[in-house]
Amino acid sequence: MDLLSFSRPRGIDEALRILGRDRQAIPVAGSTDLVTLLRDGIRATSHLVDLNGLGLDEIHWLPGGGVRIGALVRNAVADTRLRRAYPVLAEALRSGASPQIRNRATFGGNVLQQTRCTYYRLPEFACNRRSPGSGCAAIQGDSSRHAIFGASNQCVAVHPSDLSVALQALEAVVLAQSTAGRRRIPVDAFFRLPGTTPHVASELRPGELITGIELPASDHAATSRYVKFRERTSYAFALVSAAVAIEVRDGVVRTARVALGGVAAKPWRSTAAEQALTGNRLTEETITAAGEAAADGARPLRHNKHKVELVKRVVRTALTDLEQA
Ligand SMILES: Cc1cc2nc3c(=O)[nH]c(=O)nc-3n(C[C@H](O)[C@H](O)[C@H](O)COP(=O)(O)OP(=O)(O)OC[C@H]3O[C@@H](n4cnc5c(N)ncnc54)[C@H](O)[C@@H]3O)c2cc1C
Repeated sequence: MDLLSFSRPRGIDEALRILGRDRQAIPVAGSTDLVTLLRDGIRATSHLVDLNGLGLDEIHWLPGGGVRIGALVRNAVADTRLRRAYPVLAEALRSGASPQIRNRATFGGNVLQQTRCTYYRLPEFACNRRSPGSGCAAIQGDSSRHAIFGASNQCVAVHPSDLSVALQALEAVVLAQSTAGRRRIPVDAFFRLPGTTPHVASELRPGELITGIELPASDHAATSRYVKFRERTSYAFALVSAAVAIEVRDGVVRTARVALGGVAAKPWRSTAAEQALTGNRLTEETITAAGEAAADGARPLRHNKHKVELVKRVVRTALTDLEQA
């Protein structure tokens, strides 16, 4: 890696000016993903821009309800109010990586981390996401960890972030800023499916930073759960996960949000599962129907049919936990 310069801006405006001027520059937050990619020759730059120390590490509770979490807040955040208001968020964060990595990793960096597809991470393999037009080695290779929803014939990778699945269920908004101004992007619209441009993973524009994540107040957020199925009980990415939030009044589900992880290039919202729950009592039958509905439309690859069954099971487990709570 030939790193030529490292900028430490004194404020967000200076950081944005540097990134606006030098389109090769890459922002760095906790560095837990980016440095590995630079080291392994997957990404390259001659200029890193440090986002630490810009005041983006604060949590603000909003007067009208909801909370704004700075992009540089660490994944190890231990905030009792946050945990009570949004249990699914706390559980998703705690399920990720290791304590050491969570101490460094940030909200913005977690959302923008690159796929863990082996073929993306090894430069000797063809990968349209890493080198547009080179092909997709995963389609003919080992597809056991790949997408069952929203894939294309150019890319079948999945998004690895646990946090983003919780953010999808909570209908979070990504706060972005560049020298051109500020934007608010709903999480569902923020992540892109691969289509014919798998190298463009999100709606974030060159020179633009995530400054924070906003979680709206809602009646379902406090009754929420994250269930992650993985190959080891810790220190492993999700094979399949589910973030579920429900509001139950008079024994009937009034609102439901269901998002899946490990199944698509973005956190995958299952409106079919939400519909199977809404207006019904949270019985075993309803829970089973929601699990089945969550797997509707899945298109497994050669080696990942097990993910269809896993989707049903993680959704059922999350809902059963909530029903018994
Ligand atoms: C061994 C290991 C196990 C892991 N297990 C899990 C797991 O189980 N679940 C999980 O979810 N994650 C897991 N991770 C991933 C880890 O959570 C991410 O590496 C981390 O969240 C990235 O955050 P960061 O601040 O270090 O980002 P960085 O590495 O600093 O940056 C990542 C990317 O985001 C960009 N970026 C960062 N912040 C901003 C911003 N504010 N605005 C614009 N661009 C920005 C950078 O330019 C870069 O492209 C694991 C990582 C490792 C190394």
